[in-house]
Amino acid sequence: MPAPTDKPRFSEQVFALLEAAPDAMIITDPEGRIVVVNAQAEQVFGYSRAELLGRQVEDLVPDEFRARHPGHRAGYQAHPRPRPMGGPASDLFARRKDGTVFSAEISLSPMHTEEGLVVIAAVRDVTVRKKVEAKFRALLEAAPDAIVITDENRRISLLNAQALSLLWYARADLLGKPVETILPERFRQAPGQMHPLANPDPELMVRRADGAEIPVEVSLRPLETEEGLLTFAALRDISERKQAEQERARLFEAQEAVRARDDFLSIASHELKTPLTPLLIQAQTMLRLSRAGDVSCADLLPKAQKIERSVQRLNTLIGEMLDVSRIAAGRLSLELGEVELGALSDEVCARLESEVERTGSAVHLEHPSPVIGRWDFVRMEQIVSNLVSNALKYGEGRPVSVSVTAQDGWAKIAVSDQGIGIAPEDQARIFQRFERAVPGRKYGGFGLGLWIVRNIVEAHGGVVRVQSALGQGSVFTVEVPQSGPPKAAGHEEPRVLH
Ligand code: ADP
Repeated sequence: MPAPTDKPRFSEQVFALLEAAPDAMIITDPEGRIVVVNAQAEQVFGYSRAELLGRQVEDLVPDEFRARHPGHRAGYQAHPRPRPMGGPASDLFARRKDGTVFSAEISLSPMHTEEGLVVIAAVRDVTVRKKVEAKFRALLEAAPDAIVITDENRRISLLNAQALSLLWYARADLLGKPVETILPERFRQAPGQMHPLANPDPELMVRRADGAEIPVEVSLRPLETEEGLLTFAALRDISERKQAEQERARLFEAQEAVRARDDFLSIASHELKTPLTPLLIQAQTMLRLSRAGDVSCADLLPKAQKIERSVQRLNTLIGEMLDVSRIAAGRLSLELGEVELGALSDEVCARLESEVERTGSAVHLEHPSPVIGRWDFVRMEQIVSNLVSNALKYGEGRPVSVSVTAQDGWAKIAVSDQGIGIAPEDQARIFQRFERAVPGRKYGGFGLGLWIVRNIVEAHGGVVRVQSALGQGSVFTVEVPQSGPPKAAGHEEPRVLH
């Protein structure tokens, strides 16, 4: 016979434990009769302990589910293990004595005893929590933005209807998926440890189920909850805004194009008229002298030279205008052949003799050895001619030097002057169409020469650069590959240039 002791018996300890549990605890026998309850169970269900003991557990199940309950019970008895009752997303309800029904969270544990398998059920009234959750969901649904909530592992745990209509997914296809699922490949790797939706890229896009990319603006907030630290992301579709921005930009471009065309028309008419006036005067004088029969070759020569200069100027201007329309329409084609750049530069400089005389700048040309390449002869002449004419025009009468060299398969033309120079802020824009950095009245011109040069150089696969300081002069350098333009730039296939 064991000695009597003061310690409580095991079963008493179990009862004490049940009483201390925060949930309503109900133990049922193999037939589903309630055999043990705690005080919380009395409180939650509104029955006294005496009323609960011996009662069928089905009495605690709402009417509409009662008939199915013995089946669930038998199922549990066949596979008894501790688990929450119902499926992961199922809503459970329980019935109080007064017939009212409440939302419940129930977990079940089996216990093998001499009387057979008993089941311990812990029941928690989650009405308040469910109400809060329902409110939270209603708020999410009422939000104007698409909302995507991700868990600590950056898996999607909640979405509102706006998110589904933005992303074209069914809710079940996204829940539990990594948040990267809704991002295009290039945004999946956010810098550092950052949440992928926190990507600071102003062009951030989300990827719709059909693969289309939608520009979005994202605001992120951390959300402390019972389930851990969630991330709350509000996504706003900004496609319309982007589209409006693009339309505004297009409109602005169109207005700019109209303005540029109007400017061009006024500059062009002025520029074309300038050589016409001396041309007309010289021609009229020659006519008058010829009619009077009082004329010698010596009288005619300077007039004929002036006429020739004016005609040449007109020819250049009209040539530039034609090139602009050709380049803009993508019709600048290259007639490629073997070209020797030294001899070509000699010819160009010789042709510019009258400008050299007029400006007073001496041109010093050096090309130590032949520089041969596969280029368009006429277009290369145009490059040298434009750069040397500019050096003479803006060179303030000081010497101009031209050098033609080759190194590592690249030909280099450098034209330097000691004239007015170009301010640093103007050096990039002068290669654009109609851009000038000098007053139009003092120096005539369309502001097209360098743009044409750049387009020809680029069509040959080369680059043009300027180095300059205001008041000290400029060096324009062109570098083109001797092997010729990259493939597909021959005259058979015109390159589109802008
Ligand atoms: P244009 O000479 O008809 O104005 P360009 O396209 O040839 O057109 O040149 C654009 C602008 O670049 C010129 O208006 C001028 O301001 C500047 N520029 C070009 N070459 C020189 C140079 N050698 N020295 C100083 N400024 C130059």
